[in-house]
Amino acid sequence: MGRVLLTGGSGFIAAHIIDILLAHGFDTVVTVRSEEKGQRILEAHPDTPKEKLSYVVVKDVAAEGAFDEVVKSDPPFDYVLHTASPFHHNVQDPVKDFLDPAIKGTTGILKAIKAYAPTVKRVVVTSSFAAIVNPEKHPEVYSEKNWNPVTWEEGLQPSHTYRASKTFAEKAAWEFVEKEKPNFNIATVNPPLVFGPVVHYLNSLDSINTSNQRISNLIQGKYKDGVPPTGAFLWVDVRDVALAHVRAIEVPEAGGQRFFIASGTYSNKHLADVVREAFPELKDKLPPKDIPTDMPADIYGFDNKKSIKVLGIQYRSLEQSVTDTAKSLLSIGI
Ligand code: NDP
Repeated sequence: MGRVLLTGGSGFIAAHIIDILLAHGFDTVVTVRSEEKGQRILEAHPDTPKEKLSYVVVKDVAAEGAFDEVVKSDPPFDYVLHTASPFHHNVQDPVKDFLDPAIKGTTGILKAIKAYAPTVKRVVVTSSFAAIVNPEKHPEVYSEKNWNPVTWEEGLQPSHTYRASKTFAEKAAWEFVEKEKPNFNIATVNPPLVFGPVVHYLNSLDSINTSNQRISNLIQGKYKDGVPPTGAFLWVDVRDVALAHVRAIEVPEAGGQRFFIASGTYSNKHLADVVREAFPELKDKLPPKDIPTDMPADIYGFDNKKSIKVLGIQYRSLEQSVTDTAKSLLSIGI
């Protein structure tokens, strides 16, 4: 056990991390961008005493020294989980909106911990399959060994910006540890597209997190005439991703390791099939049953063995994940 600082506490994945941290006995301090979001998190945990769960406001992780005061804590922190990073499709200014917050947010918190939080033993950085995938030339099997070869120039093109932001942020984290030899070690968690239940206190019809958007669209009837291209064909459930973050601080051997947290392959057609099976009442909103899948027969494989062996993750099925996601979306009125 110990005391944990979790950045991006208002995020989809972070909401699940909070609950697992509390269940595992960690004292948890989250960073959020506004008092209002912090209050919503506390109100959703009415029985949790304030020494077990609290928040601090960090408006912009990219700001110089954003974490310098936050990492100074009494009692001091033992671990840091850094999830805060922009994830949406609205790329206006690639550098200001994505690359800076992802990269400077990551190096900024590592610098602050090195300078002001000597008790921190481990930092877990939420990276992504985006930092692994090579969209131009897929390997036969993806694993922790693969790196996205994206260049800075390519990253300035909006269609590549998010992936570049995650790649350069993760690289910067490993380089920091290599060069600075700080008091802590790091682990990265690299999930592909994350599905799973949303928490009611953070969500409404207008604010469904990016990775659940396609399931939300599906059950609202937006794909009635056919599904859009799937994109990357790997997915994972948010509860498995959240547990991986917590296990990455609990398991000593996780230090210095990159973890590919992937459950399986899927396509948008498969999502529609699962929803059709689990919610017959939504039939009229869904695309026809016989639409083809766009997943190639020789789709790349994935190697998640390290996450199972070291972190003990037991992956949920697509049926369970998509059914639980749809249930949670329907319960908030979608
Ligand atoms: P969310 O958008 O739900 O969460 C992102 C969090 O980061 C929010 O708390 C957001 O705050 C915060 N944030 C974003 N930009 C800033 C900033 N400039 N300053 C301070 N806080 C900021 O996304 P997810 O929960 O899905 O993503 C969490 C992490 O997981 C990210 O690092 C993402 O890249 C990674 N990831 C997600 C995947 C997915 O499919 N969901 C897949 C792979 C990786 P606010 O709520 O105020 O906007």
